[in-house]
Amino acid sequence: RAKDIGGPRVEVFAAHMHADVVRRLELAADLQRALLEDQFAIEYQPMVDLATSRVTAVEALVRWWRDGAFVPPERFLGPAEDTGLIVPLGEWILRRACREVAAWRASSWDIGLSLNLSARQIMAPRFVETVESALAESGLPPSALTLEVIEEMLVEDAEETLTRLSELRELGVRLAIDDFGTGYASLALLRQLPVDMIKVDPSFVSGLGADETLTLLTRTIVRLGHDLGLIVVAEGIERPEQLDLLREMGCTRGQGFLVARPMDARGIDELMPAGLHSAV
Ligand code: C2E
Ligand code: MG
Ligand code: MG
Ligand code: MG
Repeated sequence: RAKDIGGPRVEVFAAHMHADVVRRLELAADLQRALLEDQFAIEYQPMVDLATSRVTAVEALVRWWRDGAFVPPERFLGPAEDTGLIVPLGEWILRRACREVAAWRASSWDIGLSLNLSARQIMAPRFVETVESALAESGLPPSALTLEVIEEMLVEDAEETLTRLSELRELGVRLAIDDFGTGYASLALLRQLPVDMIKVDPSFVSGLGADETLTLLTRTIVRLGHDLGLIVVAEGIERPEQLDLLREMGCTRGQGFLVARPMDARGIDELMPAGLHSAV
């Protein structure tokens, strides 16, 4: 009888598992095909210097139009990482973004490029050489490239990751900790890692002005960053009062829908003659 009761449950569970496995396999196959068929695109989200409102950098964000339908990065980056496809995809993003930003710089626009890295990408053989070659091929100066990593990546395989990141920094590339404040061991890591920038996670920025604790924490992170000589970028700025508070705190840079949405390369082209200043 126990079997009678347990049986169907197991079946339901198995069917669910099966659907999940099929979906993952389909996604992996589609990702592979998407790479061959050039279905990926890059959007760039401007970052402004909060003191001058000048656009000082853009962050490259991958976009996938899966047979015409938009798939958000958080849906496909995990599977791309699991299957290893993140390595060729990441290299495509790296080379293309370096070329596009180098072209904007060639028209006398002093902007930098921020790129997100995944753990698997950093650990791929010859990753440092790939970055070096993307820089050489595009003519982008190493100091104009910032590589964004998240705290978790520095905790897993910490030693090897830190070695790779140090090699990258020796090229003259800058390093940023993305989603700062949401991971663990951040403070110890700031001492170990030759990092240039921290990006304050939107979960802090969202509470600015509305939540006393989050406002205090943001202020503390901004001060900590400055005391360590780092560029502090606030992410996810959506409301004017957040921007005002960040300016008052002396936060270096801002990024968010209020400042500018991610846009394709043509959108950035159009932004350029407009005085290179954000509206905010
Ligand atoms: P992230 O690096 O923290 O990027 C910021 C994300 O916040 C982007 O989402 C951006 O569109 C979104 N965002 C910017 N301003 C605002 C705002 O004011 N409000 C809100 N609600 N959201 C805002 P996106 O493009 O969906 O990317 C999500 C994450 O996927 C990124 O987080 C990054 O971790 C990862 N990712 C994106 N592109 C790449 C890539 O080329 N390679 C790798 N390895 N990861 C990437
Ligand atoms: Mg990022
Ligand atoms: Mg972030
Ligand atoms: Mg994120």
